[in-house]
Amino acid sequence: MPELPEVETAKNGITPYLEGYLIEKIIVRQPKLRWEVSPQLAQISQQKITALSRRAKYLIIHTEQGYIIGHFGMSGSVRIVSARDPVDKHDHLDIVMNNGKIMRYNDPRRFGAWLWSANLDEFHLFLKLGPEPLFDEFNAEYLFKKSRKKQTPVKNFLMDNSVVVGVGNIYANETLFMCGLHPEKITAKLTKAQCALLVEKIKQELKRAIEQGGTTLKDFLQPDGRPGYFAQELQIYGKKGAPCPNCGTKIESLVVAQRNSYFCPKCQKK
Ligand SMILES: [Zn+2]
Repeated sequence: MPELPEVETAKNGITPYLEGYLIEKIIVRQPKLRWEVSPQLAQISQQKITALSRRAKYLIIHTEQGYIIGHFGMSGSVRIVSARDPVDKHDHLDIVMNNGKIMRYNDPRRFGAWLWSANLDEFHLFLKLGPEPLFDEFNAEYLFKKSRKKQTPVKNFLMDNSVVVGVGNIYANETLFMCGLHPEKITAKLTKAQCALLVEKIKQELKRAIEQGGTTLKDFLQPDGRPGYFAQELQIYGKKGAPCPNCGTKIESLVVAQRNSYFCPKCQKK
């Protein structure tokens, strides 16, 4: 599943081919994605793309008249192709540019989304989002304050988009391991020092993934290949039964926040 670093990398990969150019048209081959593709997109013509940005796991294409908002769902990806390149059956949407390039969206499972908004401040999916993890407003003070009185497991807390955006299941698992925190630890029991460590490790892991993603930027120009999701160096995720890299105890797993959680019963404390 594309996580925040993949979306950031996709944005960086396609920006040189979109920013400053005009959209000639948008071809929607399959409007039935997670939500119906906004009908406004098919009407866009001769609109300049002024910038690209990202909010949580949403890609935002700024035009002179509004915003095209993309989400890659479970299996979506974008790449830059030309009109000669054959269309795959999972290529659901093309943004055709006046420079001969096409941003092509592929999504076998169709859980992604392509929407239009005239005003980002009022865009319904952004209203309840917490801060970006790499911004200064996501800090120890903030996380500690948010954690008070919360009786939920810390893993649910970290994956709650109203607390902080973009911490997916894998990053939650890995950062909890690095911090020595059991995924079921009650959030309200976090100390300020533990909040500081969580913030530090979340930022560190996301930055590391974005930097690694930088090496895949050329993949956005391969018409047949798709930019892969990053192969991450994982310490704990998916390693049930393997020895803990710290102490050698067998890694255990359980379901927390509806998703598999892996932890070392010795290193990670409730
Ligand atoms: Zn251990």
